[in-house]
Amino acid sequence: MGRIYLDNNATTPVRPEVAEAIMGMLKGCYGNPSTLYCIGQEAHTALERARDIMAGIIGADRDEIIFTSGGTESDNLAVFGVARAQRKKGNHIITTKIEHHAVLNPCKALEKEGWEVTYLPVDGQGLVDPDAVGGAITEKTVLISVMSANNEVGTIQPIAEIGKIAKSRKITFHSDAVQSFGKMPTRVDELGVDLLSTSAHKIYGPKGVGFLYVRKGTKIMPVLYGGHQERSLRPGTENVPGIVGFGRAAELLDSEREGEEARLTSMRDRLWAGIKERVPHVRLHGHPTKRLAGTLNIAFEFVEGESLILGLDEYEICVASGSACTSDVLEPSHVLSAMGIPPEGAHGTLRISLGRENTDSDVDKLLEVLPKTVENLRSFSPLYKDFLRQQKAAGGGR
Ligand code: PLP
Repeated sequence: MGRIYLDNNATTPVRPEVAEAIMGMLKGCYGNPSTLYCIGQEAHTALERARDIMAGIIGADRDEIIFTSGGTESDNLAVFGVARAQRKKGNHIITTKIEHHAVLNPCKALEKEGWEVTYLPVDGQGLVDPDAVGGAITEKTVLISVMSANNEVGTIQPIAEIGKIAKSRKITFHSDAVQSFGKMPTRVDELGVDLLSTSAHKIYGPKGVGFLYVRKGTKIMPVLYGGHQERSLRPGTENVPGIVGFGRAAELLDSEREGEEARLTSMRDRLWAGIKERVPHVRLHGHPTKRLAGTLNIAFEFVEGESLILGLDEYEICVASGSACTSDVLEPSHVLSAMGIPPEGAHGTLRISLGRENTDSDVDKLLEVLPKTVENLRSFSPLYKDFLRQQKAAGGGR
C-alpha cells in the first residue's frame, strides 16, 4: 500500500493535467507577455485565458483579477494596499483572531505604524458573529478582513452577511478565500466582497501563484513598485507557466466541484463517526456542519499530537498537527486558543484534510491504524494511567 496523504489544507499534489499545461508553457512559450512580437503575444494570450477562467469562476471582470505569488502576497496586498490608499479616511481595521498569519502579521505591522486593529473573537465552534463586525465599525474603519474558511478547523464564516454590513457602511471588505476557492461556490457579488485572496497550491496547482480579486473602484495601492503589469498593482513579469497551471487547476476543479464536495463530505463524516466509535476520549473542534468538506480537527486526550503524527508516519500516513501554529513552532494554535480551548486541551490535536486523490480505502486504512496508534501512545502516558486509576477507584468504566 502506498503513501496516504491527508494534509490537503497544507498543500495539494499537482494534478497531471496541470503539470502538463505548465510543462507545455515552459518548453514552448517563453515569451514575455508584455512584448508585442508573436511569442510574447502567445504568452499574453495564455495569461489572459487564465485570467478569463478565474473571472468566470468567481463572477468578476477579467481586469479585476490581479495575479500574485500566492495567498500570502494577496493578503498582504489587500491589507497594506487598502491601508495605504485609505489612510486619509481613517486608521482602523477590523479582522478576527483566527485569520491566517498572512493577514494577522500585516495587521500587527500596521499597529506599529499607529493603526488600530480590532481582532474579533469567535465562538467555541470558530464562528464570527456578523453583529460583532457591525458593532466594531467606527468612523475610522477602512477595512474589514474575514477569512471564508479556516485552514485549521475548517469552520466556514457567514461572509455574505458580513458583506452586506460592509457594503451598507461603505467599508472595503476583504476575504481570505485561500482554503475555500475551488472547493465551495465563490461568487464575489453573492459574497459581497471587494477583495478576495486565492492560492494555486491548495487546489492541485503549483506553489507560488495566486490572485487577488479587486473589485472595480476599490481604493487600493500597490505594495511593490515597478512596471505596469497587473494594472500596476502587482508589477513584475508574470509567472506565466504557473498562472496557466493555476487556470487549468481551477477550471478542472470547478467542473467537478459539486460531486467532489459531496464525496469529501461523506468520507469526512464516515471518518469522524469511525474515529468516535473506535477511540475513546476524542473531541471534534470547529463547527459540526459549517465546515470545509474535507477537514477534521480532532483532539485525542492523553496523547501528544507530534507523537501521533510520527506514529502514523510509520504507516506512511501524512496528517498535520492541529495544535501548533506551524509544524516548527510549538506554541498552541492561535485558532484553538481563540475558540477557548486551553493549551492542554489542544495538545494532542490532529488536522486531517482530505483531497481529490483520497478514496474510501484511505479512510478504512486510517480507521484501522489510528486506534492502535493512539492506544499504544496512551499506554506510555502517566496521565492516562492516572486517569484510568481514578476511574477504577470511582467505579467507572473506561
Ligand atoms: N491564507 C490561508 C487561509 C491559508 O491556509 C494559507 C496557506 O496555508 C495562506 C493564506 C497562505 O497561502 P500561500 O501558501 O499561497 O502563501
